Amino acid sequence: MLKGKTAIVTGSTSGIGLGIAEAFAAEGCNIVLNGFGDAATIEKVEHDVREKHKIKTFYSPADMSKPAEIAKMIADAKAHFGSVDILVNNAGIQFTAKVEDFPDDKWDAVIAINMSASFHAIKAALPIMKAQKWGRIINIASAHGLVASEEKVAYVTAKHGLVGMTKVVALETANDGITCNAICPGWVHTPLVQKQIEANAKRDGISVEEASKALLRAKQPMLTFSTPEKLGGLAVFLAGDDASTITGTTLSMDGGWTAQ
Ligand code: NAD
Repeated sequence: MLKGKTAIVTGSTSGIGLGIAEAFAAEGCNIVLNGFGDAATIEKVEHDVREKHKIKTFYSPADMSKPAEIAKMIADAKAHFGSVDILVNNAGIQFTAKVEDFPDDKWDAVIAINMSASFHAIKAALPIMKAQKWGRIINIASAHGLVASEEKVAYVTAKHGLVGMTKVVALETANDGITCNAICPGWVHTPLVQKQIEANAKRDGISVEEASKALLRAKQPMLTFSTPEKLGGLAVFLAGDDASTITGTTLSMDGGWTAQ
């Protein structure tokens, strides 16, 4: 049922976003890719997704910290493919420091990209989805949308905000053929997490492998990473017909993190 639909996945040049874009491409969706990276890498990602799944792709260079660029990405997607059916708000960054040491510009950037960007994208996509009487909005929150950790004040604030935003959008679209849900992953081994593992290894004077195990042990009872592919599977489920009455909720894929 997803064949031919248009799926926009923000931050899909790497990690979870790329896994989700691949999963929708495998269902026959046309994909709007977005995110940073060097031109050759982005071109390769776009080429691989398009050729492997025999679908159409469109790359938007929109910077998710800039509302006008986000609105243009949605308008460009509609102009290019004729519809905006699935919106996955995934782009995200991390910065860690204690509250009193947290730089103001890092606070602004994390809030803008991890929270406000979703508001701007949803605001631009909703009139299109309402006119179609069909839409699926999937916000990639985090276990940190449900519980907190030290030294992540901006990230935890943004992800809790995103969970709240998910509920409001679900209420306002409950009878428009639109659903809006948040996925809350625990640890997924992506470039975003690799940076944290390497920083922890350096701080604690241990190997990267040991730091990786320690990261899991600290929060996640199931001592194994989720994968972008598994998150792609969950996103496809949420967009499908069996999930048509699931709205305004959070779905955790966190190896038991938030069961504690
Ligand atoms: P990643 O660093 O691999 O990918 C992030 C993507 O966002 C990249 O494509 C990057 O280019 C893009 N991006 C960053 N800033 C951008 C901007 N200003 N404009 C446009 N694109 C931008 O990270 P990831 O781990 O795949 O994270 C994806 C999402 O999943 C994030 O929202 C993150 O908070 C969330 N998440 C990740 C984990 C994890 O363990 N990796 C856990 C929970 C939630």
